[in-house]
Formats: sequence, structure tokens, C-alpha cells
Amino acid sequence: MSRTPLLIAGAFDAADKARLEAAHPSAYVAGPEDMASLDNETRASVRAIAYKGHKPLGGEAMDHFPNLGLIANFGVGYDAIDVNAASARGVKVTNTPDVLNDDVADLAVALLLAQCRNMIAGDARARTGQWAREGELPLNRKASGSSVGIVGLGRIGREIADRLAAFKMDIHYHARSEKQTPGWTYYADVVSLAQAVDFLVIALVGGPATEKYVTRDAIEALGPRGVIVNISRGTTIDEAALLDALETGKIAGAGLDVFLNEPNIDPRFAALDNVVLQPHQGSGTVETRRAMALLQLENVTAHLEGQPLITPVN
Ligand code: NAP
Repeated sequence: MSRTPLLIAGAFDAADKARLEAAHPSAYVAGPEDMASLDNETRASVRAIAYKGHKPLGGEAMDHFPNLGLIANFGVGYDAIDVNAASARGVKVTNTPDVLNDDVADLAVALLLAQCRNMIAGDARARTGQWAREGELPLNRKASGSSVGIVGLGRIGREIADRLAAFKMDIHYHARSEKQTPGWTYYADVVSLAQAVDFLVIALVGGPATEKYVTRDAIEALGPRGVIVNISRGTTIDEAALLDALETGKIAGAGLDVFLNEPNIDPRFAALDNVVLQPHQGSGTVETRRAMALLQLENVTAHLEGQPLITPVN
């Protein structure tokens, strides 16, 4: 029986951290950069890491723990964890899929609507007295009944498509393979998809394989009435090209929950009035974060008790 079979690593909510601590004897570090400073006895006894965060967790950090068998990620996106390095060391990785689909899809729809209906400027006009001084907001953009392209029709992408279908939108999508859908139109590449639609919503996985998957050509193919929504990862789009297109009117606008270099995002975004920006909060509701925490704990407990993992990645 090891002294501290669990290492809790990352910026956990106090209740989630307390739940993990109550379930298993544990040690805590703020992030991967502090793992080396744990004493030898603790490092030798750690069999599972409950991880939360976007800082890279690579093979070097894993090597501090000779008995490590599991990294349980808090979140469905596990691009911060070097899964190849984990597999090479016999370390399993788990994530928290499905329980967050609704919230992330809700936020994608909210971003699309907020951008089209100019809701940030509308809020300012109503609360600052500008409405009384200057009158109504300039007319904005109809969202219902338009056409949308979903890039990545996975768990979250499909929830977004289902919601936007209820807004009477024509659904188009790109994934690596054609899916069974209620008659949605498939495109083998993102440029052709972008050419065909008004709105492009990115719901891809992150990581090296999808870096700049939405290219400058795809962004420009959307055209001057086009709006991009990204709830996936900042890496999945050519961010410099996105900023160029937003600044020069090559596309109409964007609704973004994810960026490169979070939380220190490119200051060019703040100067734009055709974007709605969110601080990576797609899954950020009380209900969903609790469900994610419970699923992470279930995976940790399964591993420490020698049971099958609930949601393995590798
Ligand atoms: P998923 O079910 O695995 O779907 C991912 C989609 O990405 C699939 O359509 C898949 O295409 C595509 N894809 C995967 N690898 C690819 C590759 N190498 N090249 C091209 N396409 C590829 O994932 P999910 O549960 O929907 O989650 C999607 C992502 O959303 C997560 O990975 C995470 O980064 C992000 N996310 C963001 C938030 C937030 O707070 N904003 C919250 C949760 C998740 P195929 O269908 O062809 O396999």
C-alpha cells in the first residue's frame, strides 16, 4: 500500500481537490513544473496523477514517477499530455468526454448569436445611456435560416449541428470521413466547406495533428460575410491569418473561446469590434465541472483498485 498513490496536479477547484483528497491519500503540486521538487518517497509512491490544466505534461515529468500507471485528465481535450510518451512508458491516459458536450455546444451557439446580433455593443448601448443619446443600434445580421459549416463532427460538433439545425440552418460539415447524418452535406476539405457557408464553427480536437487545420485559404474562402466560431483549441486555426482577415474585413467577424498562449492572448483581438471573446469557459458551468470532476475521480479510483478504466484514451 503506497503512502500517496495519487498526485493532484493543477489549478483545481477547492471542492474537487477536497473530493480527490478524501478518496485517496494524495500529494499536491500546482503544475508539472513542481513535480521534480517532490521528495523521492512521494514520487516513488505515486501511481496516478489527477491532472488539470493546459501546461504541457511530457515524458520528462512522467519519469519522476517510477510507479505511475495513470494520468487522469480533467477535460475531454488532452492535447497538453504527451500521450505517445505516456504509452511508451505503459502509462494510461483518461479524459472526461460527453459530460461537457451540451455546455460547449451551448457556448458555440451563444458566440454565433452574440456576434451576429452585435450583443456586446447592444449591451453597452443599453447600459451606458448611449441608447438615449444616439438611438437604436445599427441593424445587425440574421442567424436563423443561414448555412453553417462544422469543422469536426465529433461529440461536440454534432451537438452544435443539432442545435443549429433547430435554428433552421442548413448544416454542412467536414471530418476525416463522412458520417451518418440527417442529410447534412459532407466536404472532404475545409476550403470547399468554407466556400459553401456563411458561418464556420470549429469543433476539432487540438494537438499537433490539427495545428492550423483551418488555414489562411479556408478563412479567406469564407468571404466578407463570413463568421468564424472556435470552441476547440487556439491551435486548430491559423490565428495570425484569422487576425489579418478580421482586421481587413476579409471576413465579417468571429466568436472565440480559445486562443494561442492562453490566458495571455494576442492584444490584436482586444482592438477589434467584430469579435466576441470568451476566456476559455466552454465547459465552465457548476453542473458540468462537477460531472467532469466525478468522472476524473472514477477513473483514478478504477486504476488504483485495479478495475477497468471508464474513459481511456490510449
Ligand atoms: P471528438 O468527439 O473526438 O471529435 C473531434 C473531431 O475532430 C472529430 O470530428 C474528428 O474527426 C476530428 N479530428 C480528430 N483528429 C483529427 C485529425 N488528425 N485531423 C482532422 N480531424 C481530426 O472530440 P469532442 O469531444 O467533440 O471534443 C472536441 C474538442 O473540443 C476537444 O478535443 C477539445 O479540444 C475541445 N473542447 C473545448 C472546450 C472549451 O472549453 N472550449 C471544452 C471541451 C472540449 P473524425 O470524425 O474524422 O474522427
